Amino acid sequence: MCCSEGGVSMSIKSNIAELQAFLADQPTYSTHEHLRYESDAVKSVECDQEDILWLYTLHYTKSDLISSGATKADVAFIGNPQHSFVDRHHRLSKFAARSQNTTQMTALHAALRALYGGDIFDLNQATEMEKRRKKIHRVGLYHEILQEKGKLLLLCRDWGDEFREQQYFRTAVRMEEWMGISSLCDLQKLESESDRSILNLADLTSVVREQAERLIAKGAIAFKNAMIYQRNPAWVRRSTFDAENAFSILTKYLHADWVSNGSAWRPELQPLQDYLYGEICSLAAERNVPMQIHTGLPEGNCLPLDWGDPTHFLELIRCFPKLEIHLMHLGHPYEPYAIAMAKMYRNVQLDCSWIHQLNAHAARFYVNWMLDEVPIWKILGFGGDYIHMEGVYGHLMQTRVNLSVALAERIETAGSTISEAKGLLTAMLYNNPRRLLFERKAADA
Ligand SMILES: [Zn+2]
Repeated sequence: MCCSEGGVSMSIKSNIAELQAFLADQPTYSTHEHLRYESDAVKSVECDQEDILWLYTLHYTKSDLISSGATKADVAFIGNPQHSFVDRHHRLSKFAARSQNTTQMTALHAALRALYGGDIFDLNQATEMEKRRKKIHRVGLYHEILQEKGKLLLLCRDWGDEFREQQYFRTAVRMEEWMGISSLCDLQKLESESDRSILNLADLTSVVREQAERLIAKGAIAFKNAMIYQRNPAWVRRSTFDAENAFSILTKYLHADWVSNGSAWRPELQPLQDYLYGEICSLAAERNVPMQIHTGLPEGNCLPLDWGDPTHFLELIRCFPKLEIHLMHLGHPYEPYAIAMAKMYRNVQLDCSWIHQLNAHAARFYVNWMLDEVPIWKILGFGGDYIHMEGVYGHLMQTRVNLSVALAERIETAGSTISEAKGLLTAMLYNNPRRLLFERKAADA
């Protein structure tokens, strides 16, 4: 029996503290980021194109501000450093007061306090924090904050294919540019990039494969499917006949502008999109490159929630048993389905990017659900999923809290030992992402 204080067992408290201390020194890989290059961040701050208030007007916190009543104009005003800092701070505080309870808001708030020493919602403190932020934005910023302080070894970057700043990043390649081909203009662009004529489906397939091969040769470590931002991502196997028909429809459109029922891609071209996606999956399987698939909530305030259901990909999983599929974001709020799919299928892994700062309690709960159901071998524990360094750092801190609480509960209620808990943490944050993504070898497929 252990004594209790305020309803919380003393042994849980001391285990949380020990696990947090352990995690503070745990080398970690980030499986999924949109982090801008350090040189771009430094330049943007130097040129006064942004400031500390601007951080709230990007993904996640922006969505919470809008969800609590802010308009797009409010967000644009808060994010524009050309306007008065005082007025922008006032506007931010108004909407933050309505939404500061969410994990996305508290994680960023805590990160800014840890990095710049104050409460951002106090005007005087925010002014001082802005000065400190400006001072530390110089070359070596990511090394100092992410690598030294955060123990982040490498980040898998999903944002373009420039392959810069290899001391920090590896690259996951998005496929939307190929999949979303919707017009003659798009085809001509691809023809000029590839220096090939595209007269039929066979030409298009061959060019897309060639482009994918080129990016693997340049160092891409994964492909990323974020189709959810363009259409219902449900995938079905398509025949060559249907894909060829869709190709001829495509050639009748000069421009690609199209929005229908939330889909930014022409619905009548879906057979072609699915066909091309199948070709890329087939190539990825041949080349032992994992496929990261966005599942769960689409970020923002408008897309259909049910597009995030990971069971949309069951046919894909079955059709490509040699393709390794990483279900991103644990499918939140469809976690039980994502977890069950990883349990059932050998080629499905779980990626916990975004989830720790999206919903702290869900993350803690499902970490243990996942550990009860899925082999530890298949769990990737962290991805900051942020465009700015402060967000990545805040998310990492939040992840350590969530994992410490979840594993301490596991020790208390499921009879695990502290050393077993540490082994699970190292597997999720270091061994698995290294094996499955960053130092992937053919023998592990
Ligand atoms: Zn993302």
